[in-house]
Amino acid sequence: MKSLAICFVLVMLVGCVHSEPQRCPVCGGAVVPIEQVQDDTSKPSRNLAVWNRSSCGNLLFGPGSTICPRDWYACSAFSRKWELSLEDPKGLALEMDGRILDLPLPDKGKIRSLVVYSQSIDGDGVVHSVGFWSDTDESYLDRLNDYAKRAGINVKIERERTPGQTYATAEVKTKRKQNDAAKH
Ligand SMILES: [Zn+2]
Repeated sequence: MKSLAICFVLVMLVGCVHSEPQRCPVCGGAVVPIEQVQDDTSKPSRNLAVWNRSSCGNLLFGPGSTICPRDWYACSAFSRKWELSLEDPKGLALEMDGRILDLPLPDKGKIRSLVVYSQSIDGDGVVHSVGFWSDTDESYLDRLNDYAKRAGINVKIERERTPGQTYATAEVKTKRKQNDAAKH
């Protein structure tokens, strides 16, 4: 019995739960352990941060992680951050920042991965971001840097992270709006 109690305490420590019941920071509803949700691979991923569909999967969202079954924001037991990543930014319950939505992308034929839009909840703020792989193209990267400067957003460019290809991410942090509750 004692070992069971210790086990329970350990699960509490590694999980996102600090006090019961845990609530989704976006819609305020109850969340469920991540193991209770199956990835339906016949449909787009509900959260690419959790189910990225690559061969190695994502280890950040292991046991102790939780997910909201309404808007799919998930809390990693490892990072303790709530995060949602999707290909379609309209699928995010909180409105994606326009500066990220308007970010110029490389020509379609030069993009080498999914273009993934993400939000993570950071206290009373939201970090909005986008990330993608593309063929290394200096004229595009110049345009991207110019845009980031004008828009006042952070951009990180990792040239030749693999031969011929560049990984770029852009992010901006905003304050949560009072009326920014879930749209549904
Ligand atoms: Zn929710």
